[in-house]
Amino acid sequence: MKLTLRIALLFIPFLGLAQLKSPSEFLGYELGTQFTRHHEVVDYYQYLAKAEPKRMKLIEYGKTNERRPLLLATISSEENMQNLDQIREEHMKGIHGEGSPDKAIVWLSYNVHGNESVSTEASMQTIYDLFTSKKAYLENIVVLIDPCINPDGRDRYVNWYNQFKNSPNQVDPQSKEHHENWWSGRSNHYMFDLNRDWAWLTQVESQQRLKQFNQWLPHVHVDFHEQGVDNPYYFAPAAEPFHEVITDFQREFQETIGKNHAKYFDANGWFYFTKEVFDLLYPSYGDTYPTYNGGIGMTYEQGGSGRAGLGIITGIGDTLTLKDRIAHHHTTGLSTVEVASKNVTKLNDEFKKFYRDKNFKYNTYVMNGNPDKIEALADLLSKHEIEFQAGTNSTFKGYSYATGKSGSIKSTNKSLVISTNQPKSTLVKVLFEPTAKLSDSVTYDITAWSLPYAYGLEAIASETSVAKSTPLHSGTEYGVLKPDSYAYLADWNSMKDAQFLAELLRNKVRVRFAHKPFTLDGISHERGTLIITKSDNKHLKNFNDILISASENNSKNVISTNTGFVESGKDFGSGYVDVIQKLNIAVLSGEPTSTLRFGEIWNFFEQQLNYPISVLGHDYFNRIDLSNYDILILPDGRGYNSFLNSYNKEKIKDWVKRGGKLIAMGGAIDGITSSDKDFKLSVKEIEKDSSTTIGSFEISEREQIKSAITGAIFKATVDNTNPLAYGYDDTYFTLKLGARSYNYLENGSAVYLSEGNNEPVSGFAGSEAKKKIAETLIFGTEEMGRGQVIYMVDNPLFRGFWENGKLFFANALFMVK
Ligand SMILES: [Zn+2]
Repeated sequence: MKLTLRIALLFIPFLGLAQLKSPSEFLGYELGTQFTRHHEVVDYYQYLAKAEPKRMKLIEYGKTNERRPLLLATISSEENMQNLDQIREEHMKGIHGEGSPDKAIVWLSYNVHGNESVSTEASMQTIYDLFTSKKAYLENIVVLIDPCINPDGRDRYVNWYNQFKNSPNQVDPQSKEHHENWWSGRSNHYMFDLNRDWAWLTQVESQQRLKQFNQWLPHVHVDFHEQGVDNPYYFAPAAEPFHEVITDFQREFQETIGKNHAKYFDANGWFYFTKEVFDLLYPSYGDTYPTYNGGIGMTYEQGGSGRAGLGIITGIGDTLTLKDRIAHHHTTGLSTVEVASKNVTKLNDEFKKFYRDKNFKYNTYVMNGNPDKIEALADLLSKHEIEFQAGTNSTFKGYSYATGKSGSIKSTNKSLVISTNQPKSTLVKVLFEPTAKLSDSVTYDITAWSLPYAYGLEAIASETSVAKSTPLHSGTEYGVLKPDSYAYLADWNSMKDAQFLAELLRNKVRVRFAHKPFTLDGISHERGTLIITKSDNKHLKNFNDILISASENNSKNVISTNTGFVESGKDFGSGYVDVIQKLNIAVLSGEPTSTLRFGEIWNFFEQQLNYPISVLGHDYFNRIDLSNYDILILPDGRGYNSFLNSYNKEKIKDWVKRGGKLIAMGGAIDGITSSDKDFKLSVKEIEKDSSTTIGSFEISEREQIKSAITGAIFKATVDNTNPLAYGYDDTYFTLKLGARSYNYLENGSAVYLSEGNNEPVSGFAGSEAKKKIAETLIFGTEEMGRGQVIYMVDNPLFRGFWENGKLFFANALFMVK
């Protein structure tokens, strides 16, 4: 009764005036006293859109994997909203160095990490204040607000917290409500970190969001985050290293914004730090990506995240509440818009300058290679609105990615040619240049990502400019299948080929593949070529239809043949031609594994390969009948020592010896092989540098990086007679994420670093680390009993973007017998 009366009193003053409801009024609880579920956040934004039709436009720009709506609110003054299209068009002329806009664009992105749960709460108070007390800012600013980039992760956290919280909430950090489980809310449905996905666009959230982002290319973009409970607040300016393309103005303006925030934080006696930890290099973040598109991209970090709940005792004995956290993010959000509103002319001038004044060493990137890989890269470029074209039978000289020296390449109408003479040229430089220049080797993330290496293409970075020429028609032609042929042949070189095979297997087609190269009807075919015969598939009434639609769906060229008698090599009935049938595949999840590394595998199966996978929980693994599976994948992780107790380990080994295929990745390799003579793989030991030098306490961080590889690219040697490497050339550029090192396997080293190839072609590797990885294994196979063990020391599925590594994974599933 008392409660009803209080709510009634709260609303009475607004009834007649139809005044805008604050989040607290709308939600029925004071903001910060509960976590708001995503559907309630959606309700509030929809309410605002209805209540403020003249100052707000709300769109649903997509849905998540779990079907939650993704929202974008555009707000400004009534007058600006009437001219919104015109404002946007005038602003976007800036990418051609033109236009005379007089409004600035600020984009605020909240809750990319789902369990950094204050952000979305703060967004509601921020948008409300922009409509009310701070409406003056909207006179010359268009604010775009994405209240929640990652609704699936956020709701996972909020639902979990609501289940485990004490009543009232418990500030004791030991209490369960401060300890999320393995399946935490940080990442999206597939356990991908969406703040590593802006450039690679592997996830539906990023793909759909970027379409909106590209329509506006804001002057200022803020990505709201949270850090550990005991860290206070971080805002711009960012830490070194900065990428060299970042302009002086972009640096300066970070400082301008930071100082404005500091004014409010100082007045309130709040703590903060700047210029530390969060650098601006790796291009796939919510701060760097907007920066490389001409904006001021920033990360703001509140202390708290999934640990903090509604309130928690910090290390120094203070209590940090959700209300405090909201107040801080709310303050910096408004302060950002305030700074922009005071600098509209400057922001517009500098945005134009960013797109106009460019002076890059390389003017053209030219790539040749497998048409499927060219097509895959062209597809990514289109999503970024990066222009590309075909070659015109001319030769380009320049930096050769393969050798690291000067070289040349002949461009044809199948080549992918990218000119830096285009609006997105800064992004082109960042994504394609052979090596990113580091102003500092201590960084937060990987230091190499150059796309020609990631896509396995022969490439030249050239100083020669090209004129606009013919568009590249990507997409391979596929032949018309002759029904009732003896067999059909398809090559095996790319992820697309693996998708084609997966579709056939899903439809119960029996597929053969060649272990030896062969020639038939005058055409030579490489190892791994798929052979689909009529007689293998008598059980399928609609065999022809399945084959035709798989060929069309994957735009895959299939060759018909009327004989299995080859001109050279092995006939189709030979023992050197193996049969693949539908395989049952399982992956381990939970404590021993890393959420991200597990998620990459899960996503690979369901969103890339399109092939079913069983997800096994570590907690009931001892009760699982492994004989149901042909393949078991152990993802990278740090928890294998306790998981692989003698029972689980013997169980896995026994299953392998009976014919199972085990794929061990990263940390799982140590877990399963260490001090076990059944495995032939051995750790590479090197003599530690035992000399103790006397140095100051301060330089220890620098000393440590001697042993580190912070994501660097190395040139590896490939034995493409090993089924694990079918479809590859004799070299492969691998992305190394650490110095984990194993000696070569006697016969099964499919991919390895040969002598002298321990120097990265791109990125940073410390001196000790380079010694350690010299002459070591990258991918390899080992027989055990009737089964196989496949080792993946490096991770070909890392963040889903190393396109050229994915076929190794498909080979591990389908080709290694
Ligand atoms: Zn974060």
